[in-house]
Amino acid sequence: MTQIPSLEQLHAIGAAQQPTYDDPVAVAAAVDRLRTLPPLVFAGECDDLKAKIAAASRGEAFILQGGDCAETFVDATADNVRNKLRVLLQMAVVLTYAASVPVVKVGRLAGQYAKPRSSDSETRDGVTLPAYRGDAVNGFEFTPDSRRPDPQRLLDVYHASASTLNLVRAFTTGGYADLRQVHTWNSEFVRNSPVGQHYEAMAADIDRALSFMKAIGAADPDEFHRVDFYSSHEALLLEYEHAMTRIDSRTDEPYNVSGHMVWIGERTRQLDGAHVEYFSHIRNPIGCKLGPTATADEALSLAAKLNPTNEAGRLTFITRFGAGKIRDGLPSLVEKVTAEGVDVAWVCDAMHGNTFEASNGYKTRRFEDVLDEVQGFFDVHRALGTVPAGILVENTGDDVTEIIGGGEELTEHGLAHRYESVVDPRLNRVQSLEMAFLVAEMLRGS
Ligand code: PEP
Ligand code: MN
Repeated sequence: MTQIPSLEQLHAIGAAQQPTYDDPVAVAAAVDRLRTLPPLVFAGECDDLKAKIAAASRGEAFILQGGDCAETFVDATADNVRNKLRVLLQMAVVLTYAASVPVVKVGRLAGQYAKPRSSDSETRDGVTLPAYRGDAVNGFEFTPDSRRPDPQRLLDVYHASASTLNLVRAFTTGGYADLRQVHTWNSEFVRNSPVGQHYEAMAADIDRALSFMKAIGAADPDEFHRVDFYSSHEALLLEYEHAMTRIDSRTDEPYNVSGHMVWIGERTRQLDGAHVEYFSHIRNPIGCKLGPTATADEALSLAAKLNPTNEAGRLTFITRFGAGKIRDGLPSLVEKVTAEGVDVAWVCDAMHGNTFEASNGYKTRRFEDVLDEVQGFFDVHRALGTVPAGILVENTGDDVTEIIGGGEELTEHGLAHRYESVVDPRLNRVQSLEMAFLVAEMLRGS
């Protein structure tokens, strides 16, 4: 049986981006309580996802990872979960149909509640308070009480994640994700947009194909009626992630059972840091972000530490260079990692290298930059003969106005209309669908 280091040992190694709690007894009580709670996912499901990621790394599938930058407790409602799931199902069906490739569906949900921040504190009008670190840590409201890190929130994360995942499982296996529902996923506001009409035409094609198969008496496989959908989040808070790490009874190996896939963020991927150490011990499929400062040697050292047996599907490098840097920065990484025979799935995070502040103060991204980064990602892999295994997006099923450009031609001025994200800007429903059609074209050509 593999032992994992204790929480104390991990803290002694040194962990970046952790909150400073003022009540260690309350933290210990929350951790003890979490350790008694049932797993949210089964280790066998994590292994299934690992096998699917391995297939994507060979070009036999494509990973779509998407959802909020940061989930919030107030938004863990039935409507929100359904809308988020629906837009991901729509994107997945577009990619599957238009590119004829199975799509591995991974939500940034049911656990995505903790955020790394560039500064520990925030100052407004001369008042300095702890920075908002996600609902897992403190409140967004700018008051001393709300910004105080509260360990009770770790338990709230568990309960919000459990109810979110329960609804996702009900929808994905209980009929909502049935391929015959493809039309009904298209709501009014989308249907009236050009991309909505494009989607309608595709849905009609799928209906015809299904009717044809029925007419000839072809098999009606389970896959037509349900989908496999996986949860993922950045495993940032050591207290929560460690408490949710359990020994799998089948294999005697440790798994993080708070989500199917967990990833290491750009700010916590230090080779000698506590996060990399922790991740090296769990058996889930894991991601590691790589930004423009990452060197090929760093990537190789991370792979050696995180996946010493070179197991396929175990490690996903999620690159986030920015549209302006990916064509220059990515080739040397991919080339060297590939030359060393390292087995890794390459996923393009088309969001985090493209964030900037608009003239009116909103944090935003340009739809065109997001697309251009994905195009650069495909171009680099095509030139090297390697496999673009998937994309990561921050998106929502609602009609928010957080990212400029796209078919709706949202302007900086328009951001104020419905800007709801508490951290990073997300593609709205129409922009998500547009992106799926455009990425499907790239995928078809690859
Ligand atoms: C994120 O995925 O929301 C995030 C914070 O990304 P990164 O670690 O790449 O900055
Ligand atoms: Mn983000």
